[in-house]
Amino acid sequence: MKPKLKKGLRLKEYVSQIIARLRKLYPGAHCELNFKNPLELLVATVLSAQCTDKRVNLVTADLFKRLKNAADYASIPQEELETAIKSTGFFRNKAKSIRSMANDLVHNFGGKVPGSMDELTSLAGVGRKTANVVLGNAFGINEGIVVDTHVRRLAQRLGLTRQIDPDKIELELMKIVPQDDWTNFSHWLIWHGRRCCYAQKPDCVHCDLASLCPSFEELSKLSRPMKSAITPRVMRRSVGRGAPKV
Ligand code: SF4
Repeated sequence: MKPKLKKGLRLKEYVSQIIARLRKLYPGAHCELNFKNPLELLVATVLSAQCTDKRVNLVTADLFKRLKNAADYASIPQEELETAIKSTGFFRNKAKSIRSMANDLVHNFGGKVPGSMDELTSLAGVGRKTANVVLGNAFGINEGIVVDTHVRRLAQRLGLTRQIDPDKIELELMKIVPQDDWTNFSHWLIWHGRRCCYAQKPDCVHCDLASLCPSFEELSKLSRPMKSAITPRVMRRSVGRGAPKV
């Protein structure tokens, strides 16, 4: 399915302009989960489901001091782990997943987190999204693109996909984003989603992507009240440039 874009620039040029602006806007974008090794990132990523990174970081600050390796996670009693991670929500399922995953690590990988998609997704409770987070951020491997709620929303608003399913969105993004930027592209969209392109009231009038974004016209109506010093510049930029086309 072709993505929805405004008329004007070609898709490749459009994506390259989006990337250039995001790269400039968020030069230090990174995974906001705290971790010191692949195992910690794996655990933190499981805990981050339906939970903020800030909350996960509070919980893991203590957890990572207590549990140091896969054997520790595999042997901790279910109830004890549930109590330690309770504030992240869905704690029973998360505790079960972490213990099963750790058990697989101990028995199938000598306690080490493997560095390939096939091996990671063979672990209990580890899907493609979690594997992408670990590969991209703990191993520096651009194997895929993490599609979380922010990436999904922004990819749709920016007209990069019309898909709803995260796996299909990832496949479409992988076709148009250079592989070297796959991990960063997720970070950039997540950072922009958290700082500007909010789910409910995107701050379109102050957005650095406004002049490119095909959703500006519609979603800017939801934006906060315009500041006179900034709005005219953004508005001029928005109408003054050629719009992208497929
Ligand atoms: S213009 Fe609005 S919808 Fe488009 S990326 Fe910016 S904040 Fe999001």
